[in-house]
Amino acid sequence: MKIFKFGGASVKDAEGVKNVSMVLQSQGFEKCLLVVSAMGKTTNELEKVVEFYFKKEDYQTEIEKIKQKHIAIAEGLFSPNHVVFGEINLFFDDIVSFLRRTKSPNYNFVYDQVVSCGEMISTKIVSEYLNDNQFTNQWLDARDYIKTDDSYRDGVVNWDKTKENIETLNPFTCYVTQGFIGSDDNNFTVTLGREGSDYTGAIFAYCLNADAMTIWKDVPGVMTGDPRKFHDVTLLSHISYEEAIEMAYYGASVIHPKTLQPLQKKSIPFYVKSFLDPTREGTKVGHSDKNQSEESYILKENQTLLKISTRDFSFIAEDHMSVVFGYLSKYKIKVSLMQNSAISLALCLEDNFCNVELLNEELQKVFKTDIVKNVSLFTVRNANLENIDKFYQGKNVLLEQIAKQTFQMVTQ
Ligand code: ASP
Ligand code: MG
Repeated sequence: MKIFKFGGASVKDAEGVKNVSMVLQSQGFEKCLLVVSAMGKTTNELEKVVEFYFKKEDYQTEIEKIKQKHIAIAEGLFSPNHVVFGEINLFFDDIVSFLRRTKSPNYNFVYDQVVSCGEMISTKIVSEYLNDNQFTNQWLDARDYIKTDDSYRDGVVNWDKTKENIETLNPFTCYVTQGFIGSDDNNFTVTLGREGSDYTGAIFAYCLNADAMTIWKDVPGVMTGDPRKFHDVTLLSHISYEEAIEMAYYGASVIHPKTLQPLQKKSIPFYVKSFLDPTREGTKVGHSDKNQSEESYILKENQTLLKISTRDFSFIAEDHMSVVFGYLSKYKIKVSLMQNSAISLALCLEDNFCNVELLNEELQKVFKTDIVKNVSLFTVRNANLENIDKFYQGKNVLLEQIAKQTFQMVTQ
């Protein structure tokens, strides 16, 4: 079986959905499972709905806007009396009635129940369109297959249960399902973290022992840097799982970091290709024989730099570290770089849940802290260390680190 993942950019409008069928035509549609994300920026728009709901602001108008966007896309794909319009209306009615009914004060829980609707609607539209255009497929509710714990917005997959469920699928049928979502033991929806659809693809690929997985992007493949941020970047045609894992870990947004390990474990070849030019080779990620080790650049924005020292100028010791890491784990804040000296600990943090103020308050009870928000972490992989001066130009460097061939700097 083959796994294809289509991200939000590939289905952002009616043309995008039509292009999915072009891609399938060029690749063959036999024994294929499609994982599809929410259309365009729908996830961000639904996040706004949740934000407005909790601030007691007018969330209904936001919902209406998102609904109209989907109806306009569907109008470009279906005749006016198509069943899909009823289905779209139903999904949006469900969001409204859920928000009216729920008494839950749990932001992350409400978020998952609402934001997941982006994927539910997009897959309905894509599945119906493909069925109408000779690509017979079955729509799957991914929540019936991917089981997680109840860590809302950051679900941890229960691999045993998930595998048992996915193994019941028919390998000769074509399926269309949602990225990014699963469900807990009570069948509440749990999302897998932003941009988690790649990970969904890898979960299905792993459990089905897939022949290959491909993610279809608006870039030609994995490049030596994000072409929207860097000039003169080139395509990496072959990279190893290890190199891809490292790149994703340092923040190369082309692949979600959790995606690669399940594929590597089963040696499933992984391709990153352009949905605009599907016959081009793109990037192949596999075992390391042909790894390219070109200098590549990764920029992670919206980071926070936190410097911690003891109030009595004593050394930063293991017990201090364990206090700090206890809080980081409690507030679900990820460390993207750390550096410790005798008397201070510097952490570059990724704060996806907006908890850094709470962390800082707790730490200030014990430590002296210094916080700089909105910094960037710039990483150079396979850096030519004789030639790194160029990276300092025009930058206010707050922290830097070199480990093997990886050069990193935190800048403002
Ligand atoms: N729609 C989700 C997001 O935008 C998941 C994904 O696109 O991978 O984060
Ligand atoms: Mg997306």
